[in-house]
Amino acid sequence: MSYDESHLPARRRPLSRLTLTLAAAALVPGAFAGWLIWQATGGSDDGGPAGLPAQGASASASADPSQQPRPSGPESPSKPASGDDAAPGDARPAPGDGPLAGRTVVIDPGHNPGNFKHTAEINKLVDIGTNRKECDTTGTSGNSGYTEAEFTADVSQRLRTLLRKEGATVKLTHENDRAWGPCIDERAEIGNKAGADAVISIHADGSAAGNRGFHVILPALVKSGGADTSKIVAPSRDLGERIAGNFVRTTGSAPSNYLGGGTGLDVRDDLGGLNLSTVPKVFIECGNMRDTKDIALLTSADWRQKAAQGMADGISSFLNR
Ligand code: ZN
Repeated sequence: MSYDESHLPARRRPLSRLTLTLAAAALVPGAFAGWLIWQATGGSDDGGPAGLPAQGASASASADPSQQPRPSGPESPSKPASGDDAAPGDARPAPGDGPLAGRTVVIDPGHNPGNFKHTAEINKLVDIGTNRKECDTTGTSGNSGYTEAEFTADVSQRLRTLLRKEGATVKLTHENDRAWGPCIDERAEIGNKAGADAVISIHADGSAAGNRGFHVILPALVKSGGADTSKIVAPSRDLGERIAGNFVRTTGSAPSNYLGGGTGLDVRDDLGGLNLSTVPKVFIECGNMRDTKDIALLTSADWRQKAAQGMADGISSFLNR
């Protein structure tokens, strides 16, 4: 059974692997280098191209100065850190330092560990433009009981630390500060109100055993009710492709073998968190919690750090494009 907003039945749009790969290569050849190498070498899920260079990787992951992120321009003044961004003891540059200084990233940890106890609240319908949908869902879990909400909270915190080290202002949509939720419309609104330069919603899937790998979900063109994604479709695809390419490189994981035709990319018009966003935003399903090989990765702290690094490198590449 699937609980996740992002894997409820969706109207799928057939994607051409060749078309997408070529288009991606034309748009962001550097970010996709790892991906193409993975495809060319027939890399495995467990080995793969980890360690291979890719443009857009963080300075720490690349010894080539030409591949390091560009410093932000003078038009990017430092923004004051919000309370949410000012955790003590977190190593990061002083305000104004780092390639992402003045840039705001919102991280949305999918679900909430407390949603299980608040079914009435999370089942309340909210408007997502195209229709009405449940406020939030419980998320899925591995057979051992490791929950998607626990996974997303951990990866989100790792990602925040990495982005702060690059100087970004980072906001999480929630963090042990509420009993349930937020609702999917509020999750989108948090990114919008923050004026985020990029938003990533982090998830893990709950598909059938044997279905493996990650995929990044991009917003479809939606203009309905309060939803209008016309201005974010293109930059969100750019963001998603860069994240996918870097995720392959840092984790060595293969793109999904059950969605996206091997591209690791999916496009959906049924997710409130994407439909209602006015800033570039993607979802990532990091793996399948119901598959024994994937859950072994998802429960590994080392792998989660690699996953967060791939996301950070993809976001950094996008913000310095
Ligand atoms: Zn989810």
